[in-house]
Amino acid sequence: MNGEIIAVGSELLLGQIVNTNARFLSAQLAELGINVFHHTVVGDNPARLKSVLEVAEKRSNLIILTGGLGPTKDDLTKETIAKHLNRRLVIDENALQSIKKYFEKTGRTMTDNNKKQALVLEGSHILPNDHGMAPGMVLTVENVTYMLLPGPPKEMEPMFLKYGMESLLSKLEKTERIESKVLRFFGIGEALLETKIEDLLDGQTNPTIAPLASDGEVTLRITAKHESKEEALRLIQETEKKILARVGDFHYGNDQTSLMKEVVKKLKSLNATISCSESLTGGMFQEELTDIPGASSIFKGGVVSYTNEAKVKLLNIKEQTIHHHGVISEQCAKEMAENIRVALNTDIGISFTGVAGPDELEGKPVGTVYIGLSFINGTTLVEKIQLAGSRKQNRIRSVKYGCHFLLKNLGNLKEK
Ligand code: ATP
Repeated sequence: MNGEIIAVGSELLLGQIVNTNARFLSAQLAELGINVFHHTVVGDNPARLKSVLEVAEKRSNLIILTGGLGPTKDDLTKETIAKHLNRRLVIDENALQSIKKYFEKTGRTMTDNNKKQALVLEGSHILPNDHGMAPGMVLTVENVTYMLLPGPPKEMEPMFLKYGMESLLSKLEKTERIESKVLRFFGIGEALLETKIEDLLDGQTNPTIAPLASDGEVTLRITAKHESKEEALRLIQETEKKILARVGDFHYGNDQTSLMKEVVKKLKSLNATISCSESLTGGMFQEELTDIPGASSIFKGGVVSYTNEAKVKLLNIKEQTIHHHGVISEQCAKEMAENIRVALNTDIGISFTGVAGPDELEGKPVGTVYIGLSFINGTTLVEKIQLAGSRKQNRIRSVKYGCHFLLKNLGNLKEK
């Protein structure tokens, strides 16, 4: 199957938004083994959309369109396709009912143009919209499959994953199953990780191994194809074993997890509580932590002690410590972690102090960060890291290093 993606929306051409839909869909299609040779962006203009469709139909047998399914006059995708394919638009009763329900629930008045969102191409397979109003649809005409998806990524992505993918799989001639697993690593650069598994990367055919790096993390996506799901999973497991034998020390989780999600999961399973004192991260650790549902069972609270005064008044950091060692120091990180743990009576206290940049502080270079961990068993550990990013990256990475440092040292809780 040869696919192409057409993103409809004048705001894309005006540079107001980035075409993330094409990126998402391309990655998904690659996993399904569908070739993607073209991406097109076209404005909300029926004549230009029609001309783009005419070109696409000559070279692809799968055309995925995103955007233009909404209620307003400039949302013209399905009207243009209906005309182009000589198909009627008919009301889909299920979609109409869910739009009505949405308006009842939110106490808003449904206007007539909202009904337009329940219009679908006659004879198409409907993809329900669990996160919005306009349904998606799939229609095959003369060997070309058209898939229409809504523009907003928060509607389009779950619709594709839950309903669109299945519909494509049923159209693929091959009976092969495609399974994949993402291994997540932290504390090792992409280049070093690739060097350590170079022979596996070079020799890959089935499964394939795709590395990706972002924000200090590296992921490896292992994808296997086989007629039987079990065999595809077995192939993945075999490759995973080989990879982890080399770089398992840096592996922290799989698939949709994150370092912070792992922290919450592990602390919950250990029935342990945590508190936090932050300087350079200004509350980012606590923000990310409280973003995870259920964090309240492990997180008691914390402080942002940004200035020296706040460190002394809120955390009782000794004036002497600041005077002799400075706030960018092992000693200060240690006291910050210990004092917050004692003040809030938690099993763990974690602290962050350092130089985010752009200017150095206390003669310490930008990117110098100390992370403190105080445990209820009396152990206090401090890790010094040297980062080399922008102010923003240094703060984001400090939080990640904090999570990683914590995950590596949870053994201290066993003695609690
Ligand atoms: P709506 O009901 O919201 O009008 P729609 O299906 O008609 O949905 P559009 O009106 O084309 O979609 O786009 C709605 C919003 O979705 C855009 O303002 C933009 O934020 C987002 N969006 C649209 N297309 C893309 C794209 N290709 N990549 C990323 N975001 C997009």
